Amino acid sequence: MKFTEFGFSQEVIDGLEAMRFEKATPVQEATIPPIMNGKDMIACAQTGTGKTAAYLLPVLDRQVQSNSEGLNTLVLVPTRELAMQIDQQMEGFGYFLPITSIAVYGGNDAGLWNAQKNALTTGANVIVATPGRLIQHLSMGYVKMDTLKHLILDEADRMLDMGFYEDIMQIVSFLPKERQTLMFSATMPKKIRDMARELLSEYEEVNIALSKPAEGVLQGAYMTYETQKMPLINSLLKGKDLKSIVIFSSTKQKVKEIQQSLQRNGFPAKAIHSDLEQKDRTEVMREFKNRNVQILVATDIIARGIDVEGIDLVINFDVPNDAEDYVHRVGRTARASSTGVALTFITEKDQQDFQKIEELIETTIIKIPLPEEVGEGPEYNPKSYNKGKKPYKRFNKKGGKPSGKYRKDKK
Ligand code: AMP
Repeated sequence: MKFTEFGFSQEVIDGLEAMRFEKATPVQEATIPPIMNGKDMIACAQTGTGKTAAYLLPVLDRQVQSNSEGLNTLVLVPTRELAMQIDQQMEGFGYFLPITSIAVYGGNDAGLWNAQKNALTTGANVIVATPGRLIQHLSMGYVKMDTLKHLILDEADRMLDMGFYEDIMQIVSFLPKERQTLMFSATMPKKIRDMARELLSEYEEVNIALSKPAEGVLQGAYMTYETQKMPLINSLLKGKDLKSIVIFSSTKQKVKEIQQSLQRNGFPAKAIHSDLEQKDRTEVMREFKNRNVQILVATDIIARGIDVEGIDLVINFDVPNDAEDYVHRVGRTARASSTGVALTFITEKDQQDFQKIEELIETTIIKIPLPEEVGEGPEYNPKSYNKGKKPYKRFNKKGGKPSGKYRKDKK
């Protein structure tokens, strides 16, 4: 479906043309008409599917059509990175619109606080905020919420995982009861449905995203021993003309080690993790987006929602603990129907977690033999891995006599 068919006002169409958006993605096709009709909605959509435009466009259009003044739309998001990214999209779409927006997120910078305070006091039309920081501003009393028409919770599941439930409820208590509420979430567990019942009135449900990486991602995996991982990365990167690569690892310690090792091996790389100050994180992301830095090593803080065009390769240095995180990491490549490659390193102990990922995405990911120079890796054999281990016996306190119980293999 073309964007011109939704009945958007001309200014919105002009913004879309400037952004070179022509055809709506499936999630946009499903959500834009009901949102334009003022319906509440819960939508299951993952990043990379075009979900940001799916809620911003109809909400901006309603704002223009109604000539509303003051604060109109509040978007709550889990992370500062996502807040900044949505605010940037907002500026793109809103270029031709008489709409002001501000991203409100934490940081120790007094200048940042004052800029946020000014925008909130003078009545920015759209606020994109992380919950904690918004509450700090709300408690000062200068944010006027009475004109608000739209509340959007983006990555609602992530916000609940991060413990923002109370904060969200507190923020909602400041908002007019009469409003349109939209929830976007990558997954739809019970706690999200419960929250929807609390916050939404009669709502539509849109369920586009099965938890599968976007089409166009070529996925592969290597069975490796831990010590083979760095040589494997070197072998994968050597002599290739890749413009944009993200390497994910679960811990910040590992992220730092990988970055240093790459650097030593002549691959300039930057690391991004939660130990960095906000301004340094922003700078690293800026350099990566501008292609001044080709390799970014990251923890999962950037796995969700961060929008960088044209990432050629995602490497999962380790198998993510949570199968959904795999989808988010891999979703960094092949955004909005381009193509990309995602490679995962599996050690023997990660095999069963990897199998869970394959079940979730309903795909068997091909296991690629290691390059010769890296040596031979372990066999991929998730079923027999635990069985091959000796069960340990539990002894009673007096010692000596086994209690007869053996460890059960974890399913
Ligand atoms: P999102 O899922 O909102 O993070 O969007 C993923 C990327 O797709 C962003 O770079 C958007 O700017 C881009 N995008 C979203 N919708 C469209 C569309 N209809 N046509 C082209 N690009 C799009």
